Amino acid sequence: MQMTSAEYVDCLRAAATLLNENKDYITELDAATGDGDHWANMNMGFVRLMEMSEELAALPVSDLFKKIAMTMMSVIGGSAGVLYGSAYLKAAAAAKDAQAIDLPLLRDILRAQLEGIMSRGKAQPGFKTMVDPLHQAVDAMERAMEEGKNEAEVLSAMRDGAEAGMKATADMEAMRGRACYQPDKGVGHLDPGAVTMWYQLQTLADFLLKEGNAV
Ligand SMILES: [Mg+2]
Repeated sequence: MQMTSAEYVDCLRAAATLLNENKDYITELDAATGDGDHWANMNMGFVRLMEMSEELAALPVSDLFKKIAMTMMSVIGGSAGVLYGSAYLKAAAAAKDAQAIDLPLLRDILRAQLEGIMSRGKAQPGFKTMVDPLHQAVDAMERAMEEGKNEAEVLSAMRDGAEAGMKATADMEAMRGRACYQPDKGVGHLDPGAVTMWYQLQTLADFLLKEGNAV
C-alpha cells in the first residue's frame, strides 16, 4: 500500500462522517461518565479539518500531520485536543520526509501516536481511555507483520485489535478523566474517547482495505 496525503484526508473525511452520524451515541456515553462534551469537542476538530481539506491534501505527509496536530490542539476542547495534538506531532516526526505512507510507516506512525498519547496523558493500557483501542491495534498490527501476514491481513488485524481494545474499556475501572471520580469508576460503560479513537482506526483500516484505495 501507498497512501498519499490526499488519501489520508479522504480517510479523515470518512472518520468525520462516522463521527457526525454518532452524535447522540457518543454524547450519551460521555454523559454517563464525563461531562458530555466529548462528541462536540471532537466534531469541532473534524469540521475544521474538513474546511481545510484542500490545503491539507496538498501538503507533504509530515507537514500534513503537523497541521492536523496544530488544528486539533487549538480547536478540540478538553484533554482530547492536547492528546491528539501530541499524537499527530509524533506522527509528523515518524513520517520524516516520506512522500506517501506504506505499511511499515503506518505501523511506525500508529506506534508513535500511541507513545505520544501515553506520555502526554500519563496513561497506560488498561486505564479505560483512547489508549486502549490504539494500543491493541498497534500490537495486533506488529504481531501480524512479524508473522509475515499479507497487507490486507495486517490491516484487518489492526482493525480487530482496535475494536477489541475499545470494547474492553467497558469492564475497566477509569484511571484517567472524569470517570475516575464516579463511584463505579465507569465500569459497565464504554469510554467515549476509546470509541471515537476506534472510529478513526476503523475508518483507516476500511479505507485501505477497500479495493481501489491504497492497497
Ligand atoms: Mg469533557
